[in-house]
Amino acid sequence: MQWPADYHMHTPLCRHATGEPGEYAKHALAAGFTEIGFSDHSPMPRDDFDDWRMRADQLDEYIAKVCQAQKDFPNLTIRLALEVDYLPGYEDWIRGLTARQPWDYLIGSVHYVSDDWVVDNPRELSKWKNHDPFEVWSTYFERLTRAAETGFFEIIGHADLPKKFGHRPDRDCAPLYEKFLDAAKKNNCAIELNTAGLRKDCKEIYPNREILQLAFQKGVPITFGSDAHAPEEVGMNFAEAIQLARSVGYRESCRFIQRKRQVVKF
Ligand code: ZN
Ligand code: FE
Ligand code: FE
Ligand code: ZN
Repeated sequence: MQWPADYHMHTPLCRHATGEPGEYAKHALAAGFTEIGFSDHSPMPRDDFDDWRMRADQLDEYIAKVCQAQKDFPNLTIRLALEVDYLPGYEDWIRGLTARQPWDYLIGSVHYVSDDWVVDNPRELSKWKNHDPFEVWSTYFERLTRAAETGFFEIIGHADLPKKFGHRPDRDCAPLYEKFLDAAKKNNCAIELNTAGLRKDCKEIYPNREILQLAFQKGVPITFGSDAHAPEEVGMNFAEAIQLARSVGYRESCRFIQRKRQVVKF
């Protein structure tokens, strides 16, 4: 089978991934991929914003690393992208990033559910004690909806990330999902099937079947990503992701070339 592109992987510049882009490329080729994309964690205006992203003065180094891999692996299509954190109030900063380089695509991700809570950070697990999961889901999807509405992003990343450690809301979240997916559809945002969830406590692809089913009904396009933070994670569990996508009706996914979308069958 021809794999769809793996559009979500990192580099050591974010300080919590290992392996250089060339090693990711090597693994991708060995696994039978023809296209991948690097989407490392984008810088924030202050370099001490947190400790899991590249510094602003490392953007050029990041671009150079990816371009070098493109030269070293002519048989593999390698896209240049970023995983950009969306937080309300940072729109001007993100606009600056979009203009900085002819990126192939930008993944908009919400990790911050407030200015001081990174919802997927294991060091901040105790914060869950003071918050009901439904409240977290509400805030999360509110931010995800706003991210889609900015129009900055071709792809919205790991759309139900708060489930990472196994927390689940006990109320119906369909209205939250619908609002987000309507915004995604309206603003031409794809959502990704991110297989990293299978490697976490939730043991489930992001997003869940319910969201994916709604997304298909609404005509929201998809991409695939391993969210690899190490070369051997490239393309991990793609067979399961494809099976999930097909089971709700999807037969096509997107590729992006300088932010222009193409649709390919899988
Ligand atoms: Zn990361
Ligand atoms: Fe992320
Ligand atoms: Fe990521
Ligand atoms: Zn990610």
